[in-house]
Amino acid sequence: MFETLEALKHLLWPTRCAACDVLLDDPSKLICDRCHLAISPAAPVPAPPAPLTSAWALFYYEGAVSNLIARWKYHEDFAAQKALFSLIPERIEALKAFVPANACMIPVPPHPHRLRERGYDPVWSFASRLHRILVQHALEIPFVEDRLVRTRHTAHQAKLSREERLQNLDGAFAVQGTLESPCILLIDDVYTTGSTSVACAQTLMASGAQRVDVLTLAQTVES
Ligand SMILES: [Zn+2]
Repeated sequence: MFETLEALKHLLWPTRCAACDVLLDDPSKLICDRCHLAISPAAPVPAPPAPLTSAWALFYYEGAVSNLIARWKYHEDFAAQKALFSLIPERIEALKAFVPANACMIPVPPHPHRLRERGYDPVWSFASRLHRILVQHALEIPFVEDRLVRTRHTAHQAKLSREERLQNLDGAFAVQGTLESPCILLIDDVYTTGSTSVACAQTLMASGAQRVDVLTLAQTVES
């Protein structure tokens, strides 16, 4: 009965690839094979800026991943979010190898204005899903949501140069309370120049952190 209903649903509302909109033959898939094959696992960022110990992304920000992220972040497309998050377990072994021992996971905090505009926080969604997947794969790591906060309004980073990005973020973050661990795994959605991660890491180190590693969903290819 359930299968018949599913088949009927697929006939009436055919499933489309969340990245390129092509019709999918298999309704259980979220993206088409062409998009899936074009997704590249990212290598660690070579020589990340101080004080970051290391920076690594699950995927490069290109092709299907950039389409999915744009749809997810700017158009609140939850099919795109579901497709992106479904890719996380494909990187589980590399992910487990990257997470430092005794680290606690802290997401880059959203800007309150943008949180209000959007009604949800993409970075928090990614961090909480990532956390759940790590725990399911026997990697226990504390997920600390409100330790790092934004203290003031900052301009959109996308159109700024590297220098302007750093200035824009100067003093933009603060630590509330005491860090759970001196070893922080900072989570963000996209790594571009690293300026957001650097600003967060400086704040965390000033509050007692001894190392900050950054993990993102995607990394721009030129960074
Ligand atoms: Zn596709």
